[in-house]
Amino acid sequence: MDNILKYLCGILFYLLFDEKCDIFENKTPIIIIGAGSAGISAATRLLENGIDDFLILEAESQIGGRIRSVEFGDGYVDLGAASCHGQKGNIVWEKLVQMNLTNLLRHTKVPNNFFLSSGKNVSEDVSNEVVHAMLEMLHYKRGSRNESMGLTYGKMYNDSITEKFGNDREKLEVAQSALHWLAHIVMCMEGTISWYDSRSKTSYQVCEGHQELIWKGAGYGIFLDILMGKYPDQRVQLPIDEKILLNKEVTKVSWSPTATKKRVEISCLDGSIYIARHVIFTPSLGVLKERAEDLFVPRLPENKMAAIENIGMGATMKVYLQYPSRWWRDEVSFNFVWGEDDKRDAMNVFPGQPSPIGESWITRLYSVEMLKENPRVLLVWITGDIVDVLETIDDDILLSGIEFTMNKFLGHIYDIPKPEKILRSTWYSNPNFRGTYSYQTLNTTDHIITDLMEPLRSSDGSPVIQFAGEATSPQHFSTVHGAIESGYREADRLIEMYTQ
Ligand SMILES: Cc1cc2nc3c(=O)[nH]c(=O)nc-3n(C[C@H](O)[C@H](O)[C@H](O)COP(=O)(O)OP(=O)(O)OC[C@H]3O[C@@H](n4cnc5c(N)ncnc54)[C@H](O)[C@@H]3O)c2cc1C
Repeated sequence: MDNILKYLCGILFYLLFDEKCDIFENKTPIIIIGAGSAGISAATRLLENGIDDFLILEAESQIGGRIRSVEFGDGYVDLGAASCHGQKGNIVWEKLVQMNLTNLLRHTKVPNNFFLSSGKNVSEDVSNEVVHAMLEMLHYKRGSRNESMGLTYGKMYNDSITEKFGNDREKLEVAQSALHWLAHIVMCMEGTISWYDSRSKTSYQVCEGHQELIWKGAGYGIFLDILMGKYPDQRVQLPIDEKILLNKEVTKVSWSPTATKKRVEISCLDGSIYIARHVIFTPSLGVLKERAEDLFVPRLPENKMAAIENIGMGATMKVYLQYPSRWWRDEVSFNFVWGEDDKRDAMNVFPGQPSPIGESWITRLYSVEMLKENPRVLLVWITGDIVDVLETIDDDILLSGIEFTMNKFLGHIYDIPKPEKILRSTWYSNPNFRGTYSYQTLNTTDHIITDLMEPLRSSDGSPVIQFAGEATSPQHFSTVHGAIESGYREADRLIEMYTQ
C-alpha cells in the first residue's frame, strides 16, 4: 500500500513539476547532483550570473563531499582534502588572493625523520638528503612514456641515489631501504592501490608554487564557506541554502536523446522525482564505476563507459589519534622504513587481514604526521592494497596495530601513551564516494578525460546531462581546484547558452 501511495504521489509531483517547467518556459530548471566542491562551485557560479532556478540533490546528510573538516582534538582535522596544491593557476589560491585571504594558509615543512624497523638510527642530515632526492624527482620529473610510476620512479630513484650517495655506504643503505616508503608516498599522492597501476606519463599540470599549503587550524571546509559567501560568518542565510536538499540519493537519471523537448527525470531513493532540462552530475568516478550501468537510462555511450572503466580510482586512509597531551618533540612527521625481515616477522604478530600479496597490514603504516595547529593529535597515513579492508576493521584492532608499529619504530626514544580518541576516514566503503580521488592508469589514453567530461546532448546539440567533478578535469584531476574548475566549466556552459 505504502508503495502504491508513494508511486501516486510521485506521479502527482511529476505532473505538477512538469507543468511548472512548461509555465516557466524561458527559465532554466537545472538539477545539480552532488554538493561537493564541483556541485557547490557550479551553484555559486549560476547564482552569480543571475540563474537561480536550480536545486542541488545531495545523498549525504551534509555538504562538502570529499572536503570534510571535523572538530577533533583542539581544533579541526580534515578527513578528506587538506592541502591546496600550488599557487599559480590554482583557482583556490587565486580566489584567496582576490579576497585578500591568503593568510588563511601556510605551507608545511617536508617530512624529514626516517626510522628503520631494525631500530638503527638515521641522522637528520641523512633523512633530509634522502627526502630531497625524492622530492626533486617527484615534483619535477614525470615520465614521458606509457609505463607505470613504479617502473619509472623505481629506476630513476635507484640511478639518482647511486649517483648521489654511491660513495657513502650509510646514506646509500638508508636510501635503498626507503624505496618502499617512497612507493607509499607516490601511492598516496596518486591515490593508487599500487604504484604499478598508475601511469607515469600524465596530463596533470602542477600549479607552480608551494605544493602543500594547509589551512591554519580551520580545515579545508572554510574554503566552501568562502565559495558560498559564508565567510567569516558561517551562520548567515543565503539563497544557496534553499537550493540544497540533503539525504537525496539519486537512483536514476532518465532522458530521451531524440525527444524534441529537453526533459530529464531524476528519481531519488526516497521516492521523489524531479524534472529538469539540464542535469549537472558531480558524484565521484568511484560512484560512476559502481553505478553508471544502472543510474542512466539510456545507457551511457560506449566511449564514456570506457573512460569510467579505464581511469583509476584509488584509496588512501587517514586515522587521527588524540592523546591526553603531546608526547613528541618538534618533529613534523615520523616516517617508517620497513626492512624485509621485519615485514616477514610482522605477519607473526598481525596475521589477520593480510594484503593480497600476503604481507601484514601493519607494514602499510608508513607515515605519522603532526598537526601544528592541533598539538595533541597525530595523523596516521595508510595507503595501498589494504585500505578497503582496514576501513572496516574494529577500532580496537586498528589501534593495537598502530600502537605496536609506533612502539616498534619509536619505542626506544619515546614512552608512548595510549590515545584517548580515534577518528578515521571511510571513503572507499562509503557508496557515495567509493574511493579517494582519480588517477591515470596504464589504460588511460590522451582523450579519455574529455570523453568523461563531454555532456550528453539533445538532438539540437544543446547539453542535457553534463558531467563535472575532479575526475573530469584534464589538467587538475584528483584535486579540489580541479573539481571547482569543472563546476565552473559546466555552469558556464549553461550561462553562455541562456544569456546570449
Ligand atoms: C583522503 C583525501 C585526501 C585528499 N587530499 C586532497 C588535498 O590535500 N588537496 C586537494 O586538492 N584534494 C584532495 N583530495 C581530493 C579532493 O577532496 C577531491 O578532488 C574533491 O573534493 C572532489 O570534489 P567533487 O565535487 O568532484 O566530488 P565529491 O566531493 O565526491 O562530491 C560529490 C558529491 O556527490 C554526492 N553523491 C554521490 N552519489 C550521489 C547520488 N547518487 N545522489 C546524490 N548525491 C550523490 C556525494 O555525497 C558528494 O557530496 C583528497 C581527497 C581525499 C578523499
